[in-house]
Amino acid sequence: MKQADVVVVPCADYEPASVRPALEALIERAGGLAWLRPGMRVGIKANLVAAMAPDTAATTHPALLAALAELLREHGAEPVVGDSPGGLYNGAFLSRVYAASGMNAAGLPLNHDFSTREIELPEARLCRTAAVTGWLLDCDAVINFAKLKSHGMMGLSAAAKNLFGTIPGTMKPEYHFRFPKPADFADMLVDLDEFWKPRLHIVDAVVAMEGNGPTAGTPRPLGCLLAGQNPHRVDLICARLIGLDPADVPTLRAAQRRGLCPETVDALAIDGPWREFVAEDFRIITERSGLQFQNAMGGGKRGALFSKFLNRSIAARPGVEKALCVGCRKCEQVCPAKAITMKKRRPAIDRKACIRCFCCQEFCPKGAMKVRRPPLARLLAR
Ligand code: SF4
Ligand code: SF4
Repeated sequence: MKQADVVVVPCADYEPASVRPALEALIERAGGLAWLRPGMRVGIKANLVAAMAPDTAATTHPALLAALAELLREHGAEPVVGDSPGGLYNGAFLSRVYAASGMNAAGLPLNHDFSTREIELPEARLCRTAAVTGWLLDCDAVINFAKLKSHGMMGLSAAAKNLFGTIPGTMKPEYHFRFPKPADFADMLVDLDEFWKPRLHIVDAVVAMEGNGPTAGTPRPLGCLLAGQNPHRVDLICARLIGLDPADVPTLRAAQRRGLCPETVDALAIDGPWREFVAEDFRIITERSGLQFQNAMGGGKRGALFSKFLNRSIAARPGVEKALCVGCRKCEQVCPAKAITMKKRRPAIDRKACIRCFCCQEFCPKGAMKVRRPPLARLLAR
């Protein structure tokens, strides 16, 4: 029987009685673990975006990671769980993240090697050299375990985006600066995905995050797990589940340009009742909100100029909700373009300097930095 591109399995909650059988069925149907050898060190690249509790839906749930670690051990492997969120990449910072996200309480084997190494990616389209987290290089195999969330810059955070966590947190701003355009940033992510080539990509969509993701959104139960051996095919279904147009997901567009992913879910071999989990009213945030202007005014030079003007006028941008802001300066510190200065204890954004990476929105601890769409974009979207 032909291997499915994507497997979707129901998982109602994070109780052990739900998690273990769902995960076992998912992995078995997505190709199984016959490739494991005794003693193999398997790196589980989780999403540990910040020191946030499991019930915020910001991180991969510890119950799932614990079940996967148990399964790998039963096959004689040595699992290790890790990530590098934005911020410092050291033991003190990660200890806080591990504690808050429930990793310690779940008794997980956690990474404590915070070295950084330079690698070459000779096959890459855009990112031929990179500085990456050393721990994952020392693993014999990688399993990517992402969380499904809405995302300001990339439309969604799922399998493909999760491997940005292999770039040490302290160096992430440099990558935003090297690749300020969403299309280039996405190409860099696809290069990373191709370099790491995880054996399996799993997405935790038991409880996803909608709205102001990837850290300040709202938990939204979807009740399923997804898996596949190609991250973009898994993400194509994820986009469909949350009502997001694939054209609004730069990594999907980049993967499609490279022939790694079809245009629509109809071209995928899907194993599982995925339609049951579609949430059309899922609150998303996108750069372009489905507005396409490539052919405005019939193409040509005038059309291209008009498109550029329109795209600039409708592009989403960060904006502060003053009532929520506590003046902590985190946004100022993480901004790779140095576009934020504090005025009267509130961030002021230099629009010309802003590269719209949405790091400020991602790392605001109070959810005060929002992705805002200009009035023209809202009008056109109607
Ligand atoms: S990170 Fe958030 S709360 Fe802190 S200053 Fe910036 S907008 Fe305000
Ligand atoms: S202001 Fe925010 S979106 Fe703009 S460059 Fe700085 S961090 Fe990125």
